[in-house]
Amino acid sequence: MSDDQFKNVLSHAKEYGFVFPSSEIYDGLSAVYDYGPNGVELKRNIRDYWWHAMTRLHQNIVGLDAAIFMHPATWKASGHVDAFNDPLIDNKDSKKRYRADVLIEDYTEKLEQKVQKEIKKARKRFGDDFDEAQFVSTHPRVVKYRKQQKEILQRMVKSLENNDLADVKALIEELDIADPVSGSKNWTDVKQFNLMFGTKLGASAENATDLFLRPETAQGIFVNFLNVQKTMRLKIPFGIAQTGKAFRNEIVARQFIFRMREFEQMEMQFFVRPGTQMEWFEKWKEIRLKWHKSLGFGDEYYRFHDHEKLAHYADAATDIEFKFPFGFKELEGIHSRTDFDLSQHEKYSGKKMQYFDPEINERYTPYVIETSIGLDRMFLAVFSAALQDETLPDGSTRVVMKIPAILAPTKVAVLPLLKKDGLPEIARQIIDNLKWDFKVQYDEKDAIGRRYRRQDAVGTPYCVTVDHQTKDDDTVTVRDRDTMEQIRIPIAELQQHIAGKFDLRNWLNL
Ligand code: ATP
Repeated sequence: MSDDQFKNVLSHAKEYGFVFPSSEIYDGLSAVYDYGPNGVELKRNIRDYWWHAMTRLHQNIVGLDAAIFMHPATWKASGHVDAFNDPLIDNKDSKKRYRADVLIEDYTEKLEQKVQKEIKKARKRFGDDFDEAQFVSTHPRVVKYRKQQKEILQRMVKSLENNDLADVKALIEELDIADPVSGSKNWTDVKQFNLMFGTKLGASAENATDLFLRPETAQGIFVNFLNVQKTMRLKIPFGIAQTGKAFRNEIVARQFIFRMREFEQMEMQFFVRPGTQMEWFEKWKEIRLKWHKSLGFGDEYYRFHDHEKLAHYADAATDIEFKFPFGFKELEGIHSRTDFDLSQHEKYSGKKMQYFDPEINERYTPYVIETSIGLDRMFLAVFSAALQDETLPDGSTRVVMKIPAILAPTKVAVLPLLKKDGLPEIARQIIDNLKWDFKVQYDEKDAIGRRYRRQDAVGTPYCVTVDHQTKDDDTVTVRDRDTMEQIRIPIAELQQHIAGKFDLRNWLNL
């Protein structure tokens, strides 16, 4: 995919009522967006698809809806006050601000691209006899690039861990990294920047308490761990799922809804017996990848990326990356968070955060596997992969959003072929029957072909057309968005026919 395709995503999202810049009449607010009528439906459907997969399909996962405001000690305990920082660097000439670690990672990514080029060349030359593993371990240039990558990343991780920001800057200078916009190498020092938004609780300035807008939903789950476990009488292993808003004052907010300052997360914390965390980590990697693949975009859209640089709380971490229009990027994080969070809350609150395990007669602080996905980022993944310019067999083209039907904003459009002869009335009756089960839309304006195209452009999977034959035999046509094939079925069978297409069994029963 190219830049042009990404621009296409942006303009389509706006033109068809999916995503608008926030407070646009005042020229918008950087990295904040509003969801329009089609967007809100798609977003809700993605959230529900996740929620059902987590809470209905797992008897031992329950839901929670914790408040956005939390006691300020929460963020001391979680490490966010001290460590939720990004190292930033400014270019003195372009006045642009960057994440120092991202500049360095982009540099190593370029080395990796060189490696991939060599592999491609060699594969062409050797054909079927090509042994990739042997090639990458012996070819001098490839070995050199890989070694360089490793050394650079190791040095960066070490310097960041030791908060040696002078060395991070030195590394950028040694690698001769230039501002991607201006080409200038005139850099400021690297500084740490805390990503939490602050606000105040209370009426008068003296009595006000400093609060933060939560930067992740996870801590609401941790502080409620015992409330949930006791009230629901849960036995380990069990999980708590939550969706909700999170806020981060991102330094480099770009790429549309990929990186926002106000966004929504879908997180699940799975509490396990210490020592079993790696087993569960692997299991959750597999379960989550299957969930993504159930949407049918194809395996080539996903890959795992294991972390070299682990967060302060993790003993293993991986990302599920998605092929966005601008390349493979993180869509979901799966982290083995150890007992870090519960232990910290125990320390800061003075309350025990332990669990008595009747199976082994022992009390312990559970370990946690977390799956954390950005709802808006998932929206962008679905939206960008679904949007297609298709050339039809007759040479004409159409814009079609091949949104997985289960997520589509509108499930069925009901269209009278003509605006007369009693056809609109029949269409309205059909809607009155279907509206209880599906989001249905009526459209009678323009020629039928134009109306089909309009529904294609917003991803409506089925169009039901009422024509003159309907009046004779009570049948309608059902047009499939992707194949554009039409079948004729009795109105009496319509509800059941369509319901089958949205049966969760057919989607999530993996
Ligand atoms: P990144 O490396 O992209 O900044 P992260 O590793 O900080 O992300 P996590 O803290 O693991 O992200 O958050 C979990 C998920 O939340 C991410 O996989 C992503 O989908 C989503 N997410 C994080 N930050 C943002 C943001 N600013 N805007 C939209 N979604 C986000």
